[in-house]
Amino acid sequence: MNHIEKSIKLVKSKLKYKVKHNICDEPSFSWDFDQDHEIHIISTPTKSNSDESWDFSFLHELIHALHKEILPIKFSKNPTNVPLGTEREVVNYFNTVKDWFVLGNLLEYCPEETKFYIEKEVEEFSGKETTNVNVKNLLIVGMISAEAKLILKKDFFTDNGQDVLSVRNELLKIDPKLPSVDNLAALVNGLFNVFRSFKLSVSKNEQDDWEVNLNNELPQKESNIENLFKKFS
Ligand SMILES: [Zn+2]
Repeated sequence: MNHIEKSIKLVKSKLKYKVKHNICDEPSFSWDFDQDHEIHIISTPTKSNSDESWDFSFLHELIHALHKEILPIKFSKNPTNVPLGTEREVVNYFNTVKDWFVLGNLLEYCPEETKFYIEKEVEEFSGKETTNVNVKNLLIVGMISAEAKLILKKDFFTDNGQDVLSVRNELLKIDPKLPSVDNLAALVNGLFNVFRSFKLSVSKNEQDDWEVNLNNELPQKESNIENLFKKFS
């Protein structure tokens, strides 16, 4: 059994709730929690022998499930209390930061494999056009740049514009091995501040929900540019 398979077993053993594995036609991986039945739902494409990253992606989703169980409810909940029409945009920021904290666990469980997959990811993204892309894609490129800096100790995508650089620098402010509601809020706020059209702020209210306020003008509608990258699963 390799490191990743061992880590999958380990994380599963830490979970209190059952994991239901759904195989979908979609190529992406995702995690969700069924509150009514208290079951984690992990959706994945069919596992093929040629795709060696399948297990790594599955482990990533299991870590979202683990965070759901060991951290306050608020950490895994996406905000519902957001300005009208901004739900999708706001979720992109939260997903970026949550994936940053998944990275912390991946580094803890299988550092060598994590390094390997980040190198692959950098290689894959290096050939793509990353100028004139939407905020979601800028967040993704910025995160990969941050991962490369932290783990490979190398600068990638730092010439891809100030926004990418700023996203990277924001993420690097907090150790991904320290997931908490406060650190999540700090990073989401940092990323909100990067994009001028997204001047929002997160405040903590007493209920287990986030409150996202609009500071300035409404964010521009997410452009129709097709997403270049598959990430944030
Ligand atoms: Zn994820």
